[in-house]
Amino acid sequence: MHVTRQPGRSYLQLPGPTNVPAEVLAALAAPTLDHRGERFAAIVQSVLTDLAPLLGTRPGQVALYASSGTGGWEAALANSIAPGATVLAPVAGFFSSRWAKLAERLGYEVLAPECDWRRAVSADVIADALASDTSGEVAAVLVVHNETSTAVTTDIKAIRAALDRLGHPALLFVDAVSSAATRPVCHDEWGVDVTVTASQKGFMLPPGLAIMAVSEKAIAAGWAAGVVAGYWDWAPVLAAVESGSFPSTPASNMIVALRVALDRIWDEGPGAVFARHARHARAAQAAAEAWGLEQVATNPPERSVALTALLLPDGANELSLRRYLEATYDLTLGGGLGQLTGRCLRVGHLGDLDDLTLIAVLAGLEMGLPAAGLAVERGGVEAAMAQLDTRTPTPLTLAPPCDSAPTL
Ligand code: PLP
Repeated sequence: MHVTRQPGRSYLQLPGPTNVPAEVLAALAAPTLDHRGERFAAIVQSVLTDLAPLLGTRPGQVALYASSGTGGWEAALANSIAPGATVLAPVAGFFSSRWAKLAERLGYEVLAPECDWRRAVSADVIADALASDTSGEVAAVLVVHNETSTAVTTDIKAIRAALDRLGHPALLFVDAVSSAATRPVCHDEWGVDVTVTASQKGFMLPPGLAIMAVSEKAIAAGWAAGVVAGYWDWAPVLAAVESGSFPSTPASNMIVALRVALDRIWDEGPGAVFARHARHARAAQAAAEAWGLEQVATNPPERSVALTALLLPDGANELSLRRYLEATYDLTLGGGLGQLTGRCLRVGHLGDLDDLTLIAVLAGLEMGLPAAGLAVERGGVEAAMAQLDTRTPTPLTLAPPCDSAPTL
C-alpha cells in the first residue's frame, strides 16, 4: 500500500509504542557492539544500575530479554510456578484477559474473576477469591498495574495488603508495562514478586525489550517447584549484573539505546518525569470533560497518567474517526480493545512528550471529532491549556512514591 507522506511531523500518540527521541534513535543506529566485550558489559551494568530504582528494586533483581512485554508475562510464570498450578488473574481489561489466557495456554489452572472494566481491580476481589483457599492452592496472583485498554490504574499496595491480611503465600505478579517510567513502581516496597514491563512505552524505545524485576521469593519458588524455563530461565539473565553479558545474544542495540533513554529520564529527574505525566493526564482529562465526552475510567483517582481513554457515544464509528485523524493530521491514536472495540479512543500521553505536542494532539481531536460526525462541545484545548499554564502549577494527585523509588 502506498502511504502519502504528509508535510510536517507525525503524531504517534498510541499508548505505546511511543515517540522515540532522536538521540535514542541515533543510539539504535550506532554500530553493533561485541555483546561479550568489555564495552558492552559496562553499558549493561550501568543500565541495570539506573533501571532498578525506576522499578523500585536493586540492580541484581532486574532481568532483560529480547522480547515484547508478552514474553515478560511468560517468563514470570515459566520461572516460578509449575504448569498445572493455579493462578488468580482478575480480568479488568483486554491486557489482564490476555495474561489470563496465556497462563491457560501454558497449562496453568486459571481463576479469572470478571471485574468491572471501568474500575481498578478491587482488593476485595482478590480477598474473596483467596479466602476459601486455606491450603494455599493459588500459587500466584496476576494483576495489571495500568490497564492500557481502559486507562485505569490499580492500587498494588492494596492488593498486597489483601494478601497479607489473609496470610496467603501466593506470589504477586504485576504488569507494569504501561506504568513504569510514568509513575512510581515499587517492586520491593509493595512486596511484588515479579514486575513486568517493556521498552516501548514510558522508556521511549521501540518495542523489543522485556524488562523485569524479580524477588528472592519468586526465585526460591521456582527452585522449589523444579521448573525448567528454557529461554526464559532468569538465573543466567540476572547474572548479567556481575558479568555484563547474557546467556544468548541480547538485543544489544536496544540496550545501548536504553542507556541513552535512561540518561534522559535521570537528567529530567524521575520525580519530574512522573509529575509531567500527571500534569499531561490532567490536561487531557480536562479536555475530555470540556468536550462532554465520558472517560472509560469512571473513578477519577484511578485514572491513568499514561493515557486517557474516551468513551465514544453510541453511533460513533471509532475506526473511521481514527482513519480520519490519521489521513488529515497524521495523528495516530489507539482504538478500543476487547469489549471496548469500536467504542473507545485511547490518547497516549506517555514517554517523550511536551506541552505543545499534547496541545497539538488535543487540537487535532477537537477539529477531528466534529469533522468525523461527532458533535462535541468546543473548549477542550482551552481547558487543557488552563491545566498546563505554568503560572498556576497544578498540585500532584499521585499517591506518595515508594521509599525505594526516586522521590517526587
Ligand atoms: N500489558 C500491558 C498493560 C500492555 O499495554 C501491553 C501492550 O500494549 C502488554 C501487556 C503486552 O505487551 P507487548 O505487546 O509488548 O507484548
